[in-house]
Amino acid sequence: MLKIKRRKTRTVRIGNVRIGSGHPIAIQSMAKTRARDIEASVRQIRELEAAGCEVVRLAVENLQDAAALGKIRRRVGVPLVADIHFDYRLALAAIDAGVDKVRLNPGNIFKPGEVREVASAAKKARIPVRIGANSGSLRQHGRDTAASLVKSVLAYLKIFEKKGFYDLVVSLKGSHVLDTIEAYKKIAVACDYPLHLGVTATGLPMDGIVKSSVGIGELLFHGIGDTIRVSLLDRPQNEVAVARSLLNSLGLRHFGPELVCCPTCGRCEVDLSSKAKRIEGWLLKHALHRKGRSRSCKIAVMGCIVNGPGEAREADLGIAFSKHKGILFKKGRIVQTVGLKKGETALLELLEGEME
Ligand code: SF4
Repeated sequence: MLKIKRRKTRTVRIGNVRIGSGHPIAIQSMAKTRARDIEASVRQIRELEAAGCEVVRLAVENLQDAAALGKIRRRVGVPLVADIHFDYRLALAAIDAGVDKVRLNPGNIFKPGEVREVASAAKKARIPVRIGANSGSLRQHGRDTAASLVKSVLAYLKIFEKKGFYDLVVSLKGSHVLDTIEAYKKIAVACDYPLHLGVTATGLPMDGIVKSSVGIGELLFHGIGDTIRVSLLDRPQNEVAVARSLLNSLGLRHFGPELVCCPTCGRCEVDLSSKAKRIEGWLLKHALHRKGRSRSCKIAVMGCIVNGPGEAREADLGIAFSKHKGILFKKGRIVQTVGLKKGETALLELLEGEME
């Protein structure tokens, strides 16, 4: 099977998470709460953590938000990133509060003296900075969006490098998927910093998932990207679920058993959707309980015994349903035939045996 060769980068540490070529691609999301609402923020960050999020970013609008980050930080296990725009003093305050990383937008914090102050504070605190450029906030926007993004980021990088600061992560997001892909491909050869991938302002969830999968997926396929955030107008936990699925589908990370199902057609004589959802529910619970030691395993749930057995044989475990029975497969061989009602239970028992 094809294996993706990742771009070589420096290693950057965000709290207890390391990113860069030799490390797993980290999943990020952003809390949708106001940081100053500490209880709501802690609750949401814990939910994100339980869903598998590895780094959480929070918007910092004022000094109250910046100070709150320190209090939140002490109550959650996941590293926190302060998202800063317009006022570099908020970055200094967030660093003081103990965040694990800050994100600056070169489009609205651009005075070299201010950027240098943030670099000094981050260096002293030994935390990284993400240079997060967006085409919508570029100060100088030429006809070529990707080239403008890259030019802006490279100039910004120089300010940090002149201060001897290299603990940097880069992102450059265009308002169009193709501009975003092009910008990342250009910066990937122009520097060796880890890249944070994301496609911004994507639309409603279905469009967001498609655009993120196309943009982030294309880059990951080419070995580009060290941490990803899928931006959705949805519960942030769903961003994490999509990010996991994306990484899993490219074989870049595994989060326990992978469930594949047929779409059903006129040959199907069972309610396959309900059966698959029941199995998925069990898998989710199972994967969470076994956090950190989940194994890669493919499970196929198929809706008929015409084409189903062929697909089920290719998985580690599989079941092909007919009107009255389920045929169970393990590593390509039939191991059991059970009555229709016992199908899911028998599959899960087989899986439990596999996971021991
Ligand atoms: S496995 Fe059977 S039911 Fe499912 S799509 Fe294929 S032919 Fe249709």
